[in-house]
Amino acid sequence: MSDQIIVLGEHSKGQLNDVSLESLSLGKELSKVLDKEVVLVVIGRELDEVAQEVSSRTGFRVIVLTAQKNEYYTPETYCEILYSFLLSENPYLVLVGHSYQTIDFVPKLAGMLKWAFISNCLNYRIQNGQLGWVRQVFNGKLNLRVEIKGSSPYFVSIQQGIFGTSDYNVQVSPRVYHHKLVLPNLPLKRKLIEVIKNVHEKIDLTKAEIIVAGGRGLGSKENFQLILDLAKVLGAGVGASRPVTDSDWLSKEHQIGSSGQVVSPKLYIACGISGAIQHLVGMSNSECIVAINKDPHAPIFQVADYGIVGDLFKILPILTAIAGEMKK
Ligand SMILES: Cc1cc2nc3c(=O)[nH]c(=O)nc-3n(C[C@H](O)[C@H](O)[C@H](O)COP(=O)(O)OP(=O)(O)OC[C@H]3O[C@@H](n4cnc5c(N)ncnc54)[C@H](O)[C@@H]3O)c2cc1C
Repeated sequence: MSDQIIVLGEHSKGQLNDVSLESLSLGKELSKVLDKEVVLVVIGRELDEVAQEVSSRTGFRVIVLTAQKNEYYTPETYCEILYSFLLSENPYLVLVGHSYQTIDFVPKLAGMLKWAFISNCLNYRIQNGQLGWVRQVFNGKLNLRVEIKGSSPYFVSIQQGIFGTSDYNVQVSPRVYHHKLVLPNLPLKRKLIEVIKNVHEKIDLTKAEIIVAGGRGLGSKENFQLILDLAKVLGAGVGASRPVTDSDWLSKEHQIGSSGQVVSPKLYIACGISGAIQHLVGMSNSECIVAINKDPHAPIFQVADYGIVGDLFKILPILTAIAGEMKK
């Protein structure tokens, strides 16, 4: 087993995606504690620019993998490319962001390599020199601590928006290596026909420092304006519970929770949201949670740092006015 922590970078339009940058940041943290080397691995052509840039900014080695066949993403091509590469590298650990792509190919790759895969982790712990991982189960009702038996390499995927991105404060000569792999000529089961752009512009709430979120307690689309007003004056992102997006008061991209976005802003203001487990999964890692609800027994108060028991129709205009005054 080598001393490498390999970070698999996911990219689009020649840029690493955010969760890959967060994986690098976690890799950096672990490399210091465990005395390992971080290596970023990306697959595809025309990645030299991003590889050079990341390497000089982080000081990490970057390996660009290409194959004689096209490297467009399909689970089969990525598994084929990474199987032989990872087998020869035999790293200590492979870190990857938890994304749709990851879910699509990493379980298959882990199966091919007979390596374990601990998915969607939100923290790590080192106890008696042993690295362990924390992940949620049962829709976030429980946190599980998982350790790998033995010392074989394994995969870990990390939840988006948890680890943040590092300041590296380095500017070194880039170390970029290109590996062209010769792969066995297996028949490909899928081929990429077309990339269809999402019709909605993606609203990324994972980067918002403040989120004002509204729930069914708002009562109607018109009343939701109260949330938009407060968000505007605070310069905040707008979040919603599922009934809000199901009723088309707001588009699906704003939904927070197990079937929406997972966020961890500095401040999360939950208004008229009861705090169902599927919502809490998406926001309970926020640094400070303020809940406004007329029901003093609403479960949201169990995760809230500050709770206001009362009628949001009275409270929200007051908060918006105060925030507006403070801005002046
Ligand atoms: C598979 C699955 C996935 C799901 N995924 C998600 C998800 O990703 N995100 C999500 O949010 N939900 C999700 N849900 C739905 C979830 O179970 C809850 O139904 C939902 O979160 C409830 O939304 P809510 O809190 O806005 O509404 P409610 O539970 O109806 O709560 C409304 C709250 O508003 C308060 N209220 C009413 N009027 C006022 C007032 N005037 N002033 C102050 N407070 C007031 C009430 O006291 C109440 O607590 C999912 C469910 C399933 C089964």
